[in-house]
Formats: sequence, structure tokens, C-alpha cells
Amino acid sequence: MPAELACFEERCRARFPITEVLYNCPHCGGLLEAVYGKPAQSAEELKKLWRERRMSNAPLDQSGVWRYREFIPFLDDLSHAVTLREGCTPLLPGRLAAEYGGLDALVFKHQGFNPTGSFKDNGMTCGASQAMRLGMKRVACVSTGNTSASMAAYASSAGLQPVIFIPHGNISFGKLAQALEYGAKTIQVDANFDQILALVREVAERLGIYLLNSINPFRIEGQKTIMAEMLDQRDWKVPDWVVLPGGNLGNTSAFGKGLRELKALGFIDRLPRLAVIQAEGSAPFYDLMHSADRSHLTPVGHPETLATAIKIGDPVSWPKALFEVTTSEGVVEKVTEQEIADAKAVIGRCGIGCEPASAATLAGIRKLTASGEMRADSDVVAILTGNVLKDSSYIHEYHTGVLTTGSGMPIVASLGNPPVVLCNDSAIIADYLRVTV
Ligand SMILES: *Cc1c(COP(=O)(O)O)cnc(C)c1O
Ligand SMILES: [Zn+2]
Repeated sequence: MPAELACFEERCRARFPITEVLYNCPHCGGLLEAVYGKPAQSAEELKKLWRERRMSNAPLDQSGVWRYREFIPFLDDLSHAVTLREGCTPLLPGRLAAEYGGLDALVFKHQGFNPTGSFKDNGMTCGASQAMRLGMKRVACVSTGNTSASMAAYASSAGLQPVIFIPHGNISFGKLAQALEYGAKTIQVDANFDQILALVREVAERLGIYLLNSINPFRIEGQKTIMAEMLDQRDWKVPDWVVLPGGNLGNTSAFGKGLRELKALGFIDRLPRLAVIQAEGSAPFYDLMHSADRSHLTPVGHPETLATAIKIGDPVSWPKALFEVTTSEGVVEKVTEQEIADAKAVIGRCGIGCEPASAATLAGIRKLTASGEMRADSDVVAILTGNVLKDSSYIHEYHTGVLTTGSGMPIVASLGNPPVVLCNDSAIIADYLRVTV
């Protein structure tokens, strides 16, 4: 069976050619996903092949996404693949973080080691490749964050023109700076995220611009390989839990799909449980999971969190994420701004570091072990989604004790590490260090 697009809705499941430019099912409006037949090789053969590719100098073998190309076989011509050597991110143990989280041990898979500093690269390499195979000239997304940074880099490296739409007055400078540097045409519109999305869809259709927003099924395919690479790095030993932050829920959908497919293909014999962590002021998926009626999600009108990567009130991929969390017998937890800030500082003290949204994982783990949901001796992999330098003003404000939430609530610098000012005098500096270091 060749690769196809399929409607995710159980009652529809309509199929479309993989080369059709679709973002939702034309019949029912449902989300779309890529579906494939069984690969020619067995799981054992592929495990060996994928391991051997780590010795190769070929660009696609060096990519932590395309190394697993038999697992994402949507391209019929690999010359369309666009790579910046994404993936290949490390598993890093954090002793202090484990202790803080109430676990005997904890390992982070750090997606911040990607070319533009977030896991969006794992997906964007596939989204940009699909744009190339479709013969597109321009690609667009609506975002103020890591998606724009990543799309800009991948599009420009492939010779595509990136176009970014940002809600007026909602600019995140660190990430926007990357988009500008990577050559994205950046358009500010005086409207909110949902209004701009509707507008961009119309313009994209009229001008033949390919949309690389979060529901793009090819981005989800790329993000699946984060789970393949994590298991490959663990010699295919399945952890008890995979913990990740939840915003638009694309990653939750991708991890769930990837793990289910790896199980169906015989790579693993059980699924880890997914634990999705949301910020308290932006937790519509938490609310959905804890309500009696899970048939529709109630959006949060004015989402609030300093973890801007998960500041999403109306997550588009919720039907997929609901299915994946349920199938994996997973949980959804929510954490406060203070909990995120302190967990982030602990991850920093491990010498690892991450952006605020990523730290929701450790804050969530701490709550899940405290409530008894997660056992202390569990084998846990937490996903750090973004690089420590993505949001440096947050870090400086936290450590100097001036960080406040959007509504002006102060965050206590429980683990603050402010710089000190001393005078130009060696005796005074020596005295200071003798007492403090
Ligand atoms: C996009 C992003 C998230 C949220 O991921 P979703 O797939 O939207 O749930 C979390 N952290 C970082 C750093 C991100 O860039
Ligand atoms: Zn449908």
C-alpha cells in the first residue's frame, strides 16, 4: 500500500492521495494523518540498519529524523528531503532533578539540541520536504514562537520563501529574532490567533502557499521519530513513562502515534504511559481529561502562562491527543507558574537547562510522585522541548527576583542565583568567596 492521508475521525476514515494539499478532511473537517503499509524489512532488520546509519556521513543518515525513514515513508523521492541534521538529541540524566521530582532516577531527552533549538525541527524537516515534493515556492505559518524560527530555517535552506504571520502586539523577541535572521517575510496583523489563521488559510489557497501549521500531518510524522530515536538510544528498552508539556498537542499526538506504530510493527512489546503537563492558566486539555463529557474541548478564552510555547487556549490536535493519552493509559496534570519556574531552575542546576515550557515536565513529575500516580522507582523519560537560550529574560528576571506572571503576581526566586556586585578589591573578593563558595 502506498502512503496515503486518512481522516482521523473513526466515523469517517476517508482516504486521500498523499500528494493532495489538504489540512483537514474535506468530508467531515476531521484531522488528517499519514498512513502506510508494512515496511519490507522486519523490526530486527530495521533496528540493525538504523544503528549502522550512525556510522555514515550521508546527510540523511546523519539526520535523527531521516535515519528512521522506513518509519516515515511518505516521500517517494528522497531527493526532496530537506535536512539541517535535526534530531540526534541526547538522553541526559539529571540527579538533582530526579531527587526534586521524587524519583530514584530521571533522564531528559533534550530536543533543545536541535538546529533551531526546539523539537519543531523534527517536524519541520518533514513539512518542508513535503512542500518541496509538491513543488511549492512559499510556505506559511501563524506563530510567534518556535514554529516560526524552525519554519524559517528549513524553508530558507531549501530555497522556499517563508512567510510568518504574527498576531499584532504579541511578539516574542528571542524566537522572532531567529525568524528574521533566517529570512522569513514577517507580517503583523491586528487580529487574534484564530482570526489570522482563518485569514491565512484563505490567502494560502488563493496564492498556492503551503501551510505548515501545527495540524500539518507531515510535521507529526517527523516528531514521531523522537520516540524511535529515544528507544534506539535505550537499546529498545521501553520506559514506564514519557513526560512532555502540552500546548497545541501536536507532540502528544506524534508520540502516541509513533509508539503505537512501533508496537504494531514489533519494535516494542508494550507502550509507555504518556504524562502530558499543562500550565494552570492554559489547561483546556487537563479540563477535558477531568470532565465527564470528553466529546468536545472547551477552549480557554484568555490563556495565561509565562511558558509561551504552551500558551494555547484552543489546541487543534486535541482529538488525537485524547486518543493517545487514553490508549497509553496516560495522565494529564497541570502546574502553577511558580512550580514551572522552580523546576526550571533545578534543571538548570543539573547543567542541562531548558526553556520554561519544557520545565513543566519536572514540575508535573513532582506532583505525580507526590500524589502516588507515579512510583519513585519508575523508569521515566522527560522531554525537554526547547533550548535554555530561547527565553533569557525569563531566566534573568527569575534569578534576580523580579519575575511576575502576566497578571502581575510575583514569582518567588526560591532557587534564585543573582549576580553580586563587589568593589575592585582583591581582599574583599577573596573574603566573599571564602564565605560563599
Ligand atoms: C511547541 C512547543 C511546545 C508545545 O508542543 P505542542 O506540540 O504544541 O503541544 C512545548 N515546548 C516548546 C519549547 C515548544 O516549542
Ligand atoms: Zn473525515
